[in-house]
Amino acid sequence: MHGSEIRLRRMVRAAQVKASGLVDRRQRGWADRPSEWAHVCNICGWHGIAFAGPAHSEAADCPSCASVARDRYLHWCWTHRVRYSRRQRVLETSPRLGEQYRRHMSQVVSYVASDYDESAHRAMLKLDLQDLQLPDASFDVILTPHVLEHVPDTDAALRELFRVTAPGGSVFLMVPMATGLTAAPTEPEYHADHTLVYWNFGWDLGDKLRAAGFSVECLVTQPLIDRVRRGQFDTNLTASDMDELSLLKHAALRDLTAIAGEREAIRYGFVPDAYFIVWHGGVPTA
Ligand SMILES: [Zn+2]
Repeated sequence: MHGSEIRLRRMVRAAQVKASGLVDRRQRGWADRPSEWAHVCNICGWHGIAFAGPAHSEAADCPSCASVARDRYLHWCWTHRVRYSRRQRVLETSPRLGEQYRRHMSQVVSYVASDYDESAHRAMLKLDLQDLQLPDASFDVILTPHVLEHVPDTDAALRELFRVTAPGGSVFLMVPMATGLTAAPTEPEYHADHTLVYWNFGWDLGDKLRAAGFSVECLVTQPLIDRVRRGQFDTNLTASDMDELSLLKHAALRDLTAIAGEREAIRYGFVPDAYFIVWHGGVPTA
């Protein structure tokens, strides 16, 4: 054995001894602070490696509370736009989540859930948005997730939402935005819960909100605003359940406000960006 070979063996052995007892560096990856890219549910506080199912507003389920991405986005918009108060009176029309969520909401604010179609849940109140059996200025915040598209008279519903929201209050209105300009479906369309769809909304919903008296902001993620500015309207979602090209081509840039950055959007599951649009209607202070 040559002297050089002996030296090499000694070096290898020394390196093996030194390495024993250390963590297996092969399993550590190379990303900086990987915890920053973990996923988080801003409703129940779950955090982990991945949401369940594909990236979509109706999927990316939280393994703990079963929220889908649009539940978390509406919650995000409310909690990032309205200062917290335990006494805040919050009405949520037809929340998708059940008992555990509703109980939690009742513990953190003065919370009322309503349902119209009571097939999935039976809430505290049964309300028709077109004719709310509630006194004026009853609530500080109204959350309406995917309800307005099932209501025949949009203008009547918006007038009623304005009436029952207190001065200085907010309505967070979420509808499926699948096209640039509002149109009635050309043939009968139902959502997964078998509820008839009267309207496929576009950006002109902002004009309807203004006509009802609201100040209007459209809350989206920063990547969506960047894309509209660049004129990058299509990312091949067009073939699925939305006409992305039409939607983004008609986007009213003046109404768009970023409510989450790119990193937050990934972390909380607000992707693909075109699915995450919430209308914030403000009621002027008296
Ligand atoms: Zn959750």
